[in-house]
Amino acid sequence: MGVDSLEGHDVESERWVALTGSLGLNGVFEGGLKPRGMFSAIATDFTPDYERVCMTQSYVIIGDGIAGSSAAETLREEAPEADVTVITDEGEALYNRILIKEFAKGKLPEAPISIHDESWYDDRDIELELNTLVTNIDPDGHTVSTHDGETYEYDKLLIATGGTPTQLPVENSDADGVHHFWTFQDARNIREHIEEADTATIVGAGLLGIDLAAICGAQEVDGNYLMRGDSWWRYALDQEGADIMHDAMRERGVTPVFQSGVDHFETDDDGHVTTTVDPNGEEFDSDFVGIAIGLDFNLELLQNFEIEMDDGVVVDKYMRTSAEDIFAAGDLTRYYDVILGEHAQNGSWGSAKEQGTIAAKNMIDPETDEFRWVSSYSITHFDFPFLSFGHPTLGEDSVSKKYSETEWRRLAIKDGKIVGGVLIGDLAPQSGYKQLMREETFVGDQKEALLKEKFSADDIAATQEQ
Ligand SMILES: Cc1cc2nc3c(=O)[nH]c(=O)nc-3n(C[C@H](O)[C@H](O)[C@H](O)COP(=O)(O)OP(=O)(O)OC[C@H]3O[C@@H](n4cnc5c(N)ncnc54)[C@H](O)[C@@H]3O)c2cc1C
Repeated sequence: MGVDSLEGHDVESERWVALTGSLGLNGVFEGGLKPRGMFSAIATDFTPDYERVCMTQSYVIIGDGIAGSSAAETLREEAPEADVTVITDEGEALYNRILIKEFAKGKLPEAPISIHDESWYDDRDIELELNTLVTNIDPDGHTVSTHDGETYEYDKLLIATGGTPTQLPVENSDADGVHHFWTFQDARNIREHIEEADTATIVGAGLLGIDLAAICGAQEVDGNYLMRGDSWWRYALDQEGADIMHDAMRERGVTPVFQSGVDHFETDDDGHVTTTVDPNGEEFDSDFVGIAIGLDFNLELLQNFEIEMDDGVVVDKYMRTSAEDIFAAGDLTRYYDVILGEHAQNGSWGSAKEQGTIAAKNMIDPETDEFRWVSSYSITHFDFPFLSFGHPTLGEDSVSKKYSETEWRRLAIKDGKIVGGVLIGDLAPQSGYKQLMREETFVGDQKEALLKEKFSADDIAATQEQ
C-alpha cells in the first residue's frame, strides 16, 4: 500500500482493551512496562468521547534532534494531558547541530550551542531518557524497548532518528585522527585534534565537507580538499559558481584537489593517520582527516516489521509511515513533497523542525496539517553569503549566471517550475524565487527575467500579464 493512500486509523478502542488488560490492582502497571499511556481514570461509560475524557494518550519519540524535540514541544502545547517521552542515545539534550561547526572552528564556546537543558523537559512534564538506545519496536504490541531492558508503551510513535555519517570503505579509515562529523561530541573531538594538527585532508564535496574545510581554515591548518570530479558540489553548481567557492577555499588555506579521492590512509606505529593516498597514487600529509561523504539513515529499528522504505522511511504528507500509529520526521524521511508532486528527501534543520511539528499535529489529530515547505541551507564561512534552497540537484533544466567575482546564481527547473536553487553573494532574490516555487508558478518561458540582477517575483507576474 502506498502511504499517500493511507487513511487515518482509529484503533483506540482496541488499544483501550489491550491496555486495561495489563493494569494490575489499583491501576498499577505490571509486567515490567514503563507506565506510559496510563489512564487518568478507569472508563465505565464508552461514550464516543471516552478517549478524550478518560484516556491519557501516550506519545513516544525516538530521537532528540530538532525533529524529535520540536515534535515533543508541539505535543505538549497541543495535548497538555498527554504523556510525552523522548528517548535519545546521546548524552545531552537538544543542541544546535548547525552551530557545532562554529564550536569546532574555535569561534564559539559550548554554552550557546545547547538549546534545551534537562530542566526544559522537566518544566513541560516531558520525560527525557538520555543515553538510551532504542533497540526494538513492536508495532503489534505498541511498545519500544531499549538497550537497558526497559519497555515503553505508546499509542503513537515518532521515529526521528536521523542518520550516521557514511564511513569511507578504505583501509585505515577508522584510524586515530580520521573524523566524521555529526554530533557535538564529534565537534569536540575535531576541535581538540585540529588545534594540534599542522596538515589536514578533507574528503566529501558537499555542504558538510565544506564545513570541515572551513574549520581547517579557521584553525589555520593547511588543508587539501580531495574531490572526485572537477568541482565542489557539482550536482548543484556549474563550473563558474564552483570556482567562486574554490577561490574562497584557497583564500582560507585549503587547496581543492580535483579528480582525486581516497585509495587508503597510512598510519604511524601508534595507529594515528599520517598520510592520505589518493587513487592516482598521490600522497597528502594528513595529521587530521575529515570525511563527509554522506549520511546513512538510522533505519535499523525498522528492519523487523513491514514498513515502506526507499532509501529512507517513506511518509505521506502528514508524516505517517505505512505502519499503523507510527510517524517519522526529519532527515531520515522520504516525504511526499506537495510542491514537487513526488516523494523527496531533504537534510536541513528547518525542514526537520517543521516535519517534527507537522507529525505531532497529525499524531494528535489525524490529517490536521500537511507538510508544505521550501527549505533553506546557508553557509557563512566566507566573505560572501551562500544559500541553497529547495531541491537544487533536481530538475531537467536550469538557468545560471555569474554577476561578479563573488556573485552567482543558479535555478533548478522541473516541468517549467522552480524546484530549487543556489545563490552566492547576493541573497536578496531568494524570497522571490521561493515565492514562485511555493506558488508553483510556471516560469519555463521566462528564463531571462529570472536572472535579472535585482530580481523580484513581480518581474515574472508582470511579464505573464503582458
Ligand atoms: C556539522 C553540521 C552542520 C550542519 N549545518 C546545517 C546548516 O547550516 N543548515 C541546515 O539547514 N542544516 C544543517 N545541518 C543539517 C541539520 O543539522 C540536520 O538536517 C538536522 O539536524 C536533522 O535533524 P533530525 O532531528 O532529523 O536528526 P538528528 O539531528 O540526526 O537527530 C537524530 C537523533 O536521534 C538519535 N538516535 C538515532 N538512533 C537512535 C536510537 N535507536 N535510539 C535513540 N536515539 C537514537 C541520534 O543520536 C540523534 O540524536 C548540519 C548538520 C551537521 C552535522
